[in-house]
Amino acid sequence: MWRGVPEGEDELRKWDILPAWGRILSGGKPLLSIEITKECPLRCPGCYAYDPGHLGGLTTLRQLADYKGESLVDGLMALVRRYRPLHVSIVGGEPLVRYRELDILLPKLDQMRVAVQLVTSAVRPIPSHWSKLNGLYVVISVDGLPPEHDRRRSPATYERILNHIQGHSVIVHCTITRPLVQRAGYLHEFAELWSNRAEARKIWFSLYTPQDGDTSEERLTPADRTHAIDELRAVAARFKKVDLPEAMLQAYARPPASPSECLFAQLTASFSADLRTEITPCQFGGDPVCSECGCLASAGFASLGRYKLAGLVPISSLFFLSKNIGERRKKKPHQVGEPQISPAPSASGGWDGRDGQAA
Ligand code: SF4
Ligand code: SF4
Repeated sequence: MWRGVPEGEDELRKWDILPAWGRILSGGKPLLSIEITKECPLRCPGCYAYDPGHLGGLTTLRQLADYKGESLVDGLMALVRRYRPLHVSIVGGEPLVRYRELDILLPKLDQMRVAVQLVTSAVRPIPSHWSKLNGLYVVISVDGLPPEHDRRRSPATYERILNHIQGHSVIVHCTITRPLVQRAGYLHEFAELWSNRAEARKIWFSLYTPQDGDTSEERLTPADRTHAIDELRAVAARFKKVDLPEAMLQAYARPPASPSECLFAQLTASFSADLRTEITPCQFGGDPVCSECGCLASAGFASLGRYKLAGLVPISSLFFLSKNIGERRKKKPHQVGEPQISPAPSASGGWDGRDGQAA
């Protein structure tokens, strides 16, 4: 299931282009994605986080040593200070398993003006005071209408979700798998149901992204994809909360050919639950099939990248040029007057950074 990074036009506007460009020119990545825990009480079919190949095959998410309590707070803040991201996506496992730590982390990140996207199944209550954090975007994963969702995502059933999001303004995110496109009008019904819920301020759809060799019943056929994109176009035109501009639909129809052409993958540093293991080539890990990518974030960046400045130069060309310049600058020895990157987590498992400093 999708548990990705910033999506939708609003979010893209919010992490300003110019500061992001500054990070790229200094050799950094402006987006950070962190699997905050290896624990999850759900067993969703098609979950890529627990796929044996997710972390490259040498280890798995369940085998990693993850952090709790103060060491998790310190470790995550050290990672943020090291990367100085404009946007952090907190995924899991199930992030709410670590709600006590998040209760400390989220206000800290808010004070640092780092936008945070928290992707959750809402299997447990979302603390009510989190709704006061301006830079927090809570994204609830909902796998279709109640019969299908409850079968896949128990114990995070519709009943629980509706209880747990009371008083919040959340983004509802549905990953479209093959079973959801077998009945005409299904996505329409989903959009209607959530459009009528006051707690849902936006509705996002992404398409299931397979790993190489995936033979599961989740995988969309080319005809399924075409059908889903056509239905999404109609749904987006009808329901205001559905955040899916035409440029993104076109990006779903024509995803990046490879990770090296994927702006989102190139601009995001993704870490697993030991806060050290990098997830490559993108947050899906393993060997994702880019030609069937349905990641909302990737589509958002692809649509942005294909926009031509002055009708001539695609933004993606400038991003990749800037990235090359930044990487070359980063390889040069430190020069007086240039900002230094904060130290990485120490090999001993301790953390070198001090907590509470602004980025
Ligand atoms: S809730 Fe998320 S992490 Fe947990 S099994 Fe489902 S998709 Fe995977
Ligand atoms: S296009 Fe490829 S690299 Fe980019 S998010 Fe999709 S699967 Fe990952």
